[in-house]
Amino acid sequence: MEFEAVIGLEVHVQLKTRSKIFCSCSTEFGAPPNTHTCPVCLGMPGVLPVLNRRAVEYAMRMAVATNCTINRKNLFARKHYFYPDLPKGYQISQYELPLAENGWVDVETDMGSRRVRLNRIHMEDDAGKLIHDENRPVSLVDLNRTGTPLIEIVSEPDIRFPEEASAYLKKIRQLVRYLKISDGNMEEGSLRCDANISLRPRGQETLGTKSELKNMNSFKHVQRALEYEIRRQTAVLMDGGEIVQETRLYDAAKGVTHSMRGKEEAHDYRYFPDPDLVPIHVEDSWLEEVLASMPELPDRKRARFVEEYGLPEYDAAILTSSYDLADYFEACVALYPGAKKVSNWIMVELMKLLKLSGSDINDCLVTPDALAELLKLLEKGVISDKIGKKVLEQIFENGGSPSEIVERQGLAQVSDIGELQQLVEKVLDANPAEVEKYRSGKKKVFGFFVGQVMRETRGKANPKTVNELLRKMLGS
Ligand SMILES: [Zn+2]
Repeated sequence: MEFEAVIGLEVHVQLKTRSKIFCSCSTEFGAPPNTHTCPVCLGMPGVLPVLNRRAVEYAMRMAVATNCTINRKNLFARKHYFYPDLPKGYQISQYELPLAENGWVDVETDMGSRRVRLNRIHMEDDAGKLIHDENRPVSLVDLNRTGTPLIEIVSEPDIRFPEEASAYLKKIRQLVRYLKISDGNMEEGSLRCDANISLRPRGQETLGTKSELKNMNSFKHVQRALEYEIRRQTAVLMDGGEIVQETRLYDAAKGVTHSMRGKEEAHDYRYFPDPDLVPIHVEDSWLEEVLASMPELPDRKRARFVEEYGLPEYDAAILTSSYDLADYFEACVALYPGAKKVSNWIMVELMKLLKLSGSDINDCLVTPDALAELLKLLEKGVISDKIGKKVLEQIFENGGSPSEIVERQGLAQVSDIGELQQLVEKVLDANPAEVEKYRSGKKKVFGFFVGQVMRETRGKANPKTVNELLRKMLGS
């Protein structure tokens, strides 16, 4: 029997507001434990939460970017459960009336395009962090993160392959970064993902029993955990067994999942509307403000790069993979209008240097001015491509202007015909045997002569001029 996987993802995104969602404590990452806390986020009796307007705006941006309908009235609800790093004893979340519903995101993989529908996007507050001491039988709690605003993006079970799950998650990260509402950093926990997965015989409509996977801290983990779970569930079903609904933890070191607990149902949480918070009313003027703050989104930008700059799809996809890279490209094209040339130098040379040094385009010392200037020097034939790459490396390391570097280091190409003619003559005189070979039909030695002239000029001879002179003087 052949099985089909049915996968849905729940993605938590930490919003990059400066203060927490219901108090004015800082959300800064990495502060000493328990220094960013107050009676509200510590869940003291008698305190009242006050909603952070910016957090709602960030959540609305994501709702718009994922084609969701925003509920003009939405509510916060209490979700009750005990957890040592959740001092209130409940999480403030949204249940009956979430911020937004019924959206979709298109994802591309090698297997083609798939539209993943979104069930909902809701807001909630984050819990703190437990730190388990490996050497002593104690756990420590840090409540700095308690009350950091989150959105939870819940997809419909539309994903069929682990690769698609990973691509979907990358798309979510790309969107939150474009919208500048989150770092989307999985390693630091600002983007977290749980996956629901069940199998069913291919062709069957009804869903099988699902398990929920947790503890996946990278795109690779998500894909591997799902692959493992497909193998595990397939083996159980082929054996005539039954899948138990449960939550399973992914063990990255071993590449397997372990049963953690039986899966709870929504009614276990005793949701009810939070009496401390008034409903959120999204008025037209507020929504318009948010719409006006929306940047151009990646799919749109990619299509525009193809149309406006005549770039191949491949180039456009890479250049628009990050908002800042796309900005960088456009700043360069504004200064040097050869879009394809700019694209090549960014994608091949600059991105190679960025990757090797592990740095980001924002910290790059090669400014758009410098890159445009370099490309102009290449176009005018002042320097060769090879020298151009060396100059780029130098600017990447230490900054500076290409013209000044070329001038200071005497890197300009030798294009002077008189000077080059002398060199060519010198090379031919020094190698009479090769000249003889060439004239008797062994045309391959031509490259040898070019190499010799280049060596004489330490790579600075204009190759086009050298070729022309050699052909003329060898009589071909
Ligand atoms: Zn606080």
